Amino acid sequence: MTPPSDNSSAAPEAVEIVEVGPRDGLQNDPTLIDTGVKLEFITRLIEAGVRRLEAASFVNPKLVPAMADGDAVMAGVPRDRGVTYIGLALNERGLRRAIDAGCDEINFVMVASEGFGRANQNATPEETADLLERIAVLAHDADIPLSATISVAFGDPFDGEVDAGRVAQLARRAAAAGACEIALGDTIGAASPWDVRRMVAAVRAAAPEPRLRLHFHNTRNTALANIYAALEAGVRIIDASAGGIGGCPFAPRATGNVATEDVVYMLERGGVRTGIDLDKMIETARWLEQTALRHPVASMLSKAGGFPPAAR
Ligand code: MG
Repeated sequence: MTPPSDNSSAAPEAVEIVEVGPRDGLQNDPTLIDTGVKLEFITRLIEAGVRRLEAASFVNPKLVPAMADGDAVMAGVPRDRGVTYIGLALNERGLRRAIDAGCDEINFVMVASEGFGRANQNATPEETADLLERIAVLAHDADIPLSATISVAFGDPFDGEVDAGRVAQLARRAAAAGACEIALGDTIGAASPWDVRRMVAAVRAAAPEPRLRLHFHNTRNTALANIYAALEAGVRIIDASAGGIGGCPFAPRATGNVATEDVVYMLERGGVRTGIDLDKMIETARWLEQTALRHPVASMLSKAGGFPPAAR
């Protein structure tokens, strides 16, 4: 084995943050907010510097009512700001709706384990891989980049431990189908930093081509440590949600996504560029809390503020 080089712990120059608040954040919030407020949320995120964001999901509106207006959201988003809008789909119908709505990218969700697969999309892991192979053809024909999230990659709320070899095998199939990016989702916030290191290595070995993106929930307070581990393992794309809002309607007790402003603070403090203005992101989190959702949000920075304090 090659020993790590001296600069193996140097911070990366830049990290891309994919903002998932408008989709993953809002889909499980007890407050149903209307399309205009979602568009204000998206505009605020863009003002804060976000350039790639998950805007909507195209799933059964009976099962996820908060996302029923995906088409209207996409019809209203700013188009002149160089922003890439991602639409989430679980099947062919969703993929077609996302394309018709004008999404720039499609994110398809695979599952790493049976229990969550049944609850979230009524499919086994292998069935989600079969489906990905079929819809990848449609995305390719429409010339739209396709990414694949492997959800519950670090633990399933029903089945418990998830086998890294199985996650790697799903990643291999996603890469072979043409997914240009693979996201590993810690849907229930179960991972430790060492799990992250092992899983990234296993997935890289199985699927070296696609970019890797990591998606953490802070359910057990490990999200920032896991992000640090992911960056140490060479990952440069991280999902985060303003205010730390979100969860998953089909994963019991899966509390919020890691908060964008908490991630931005840690990275920028370490000299890592994110392109996101911390103060504006904090303002957005406070706006969510006070105006849009009217309940407290989980992030720390929206309470503490940044450091050092701004000059007055
Ligand atoms: Mg999430």
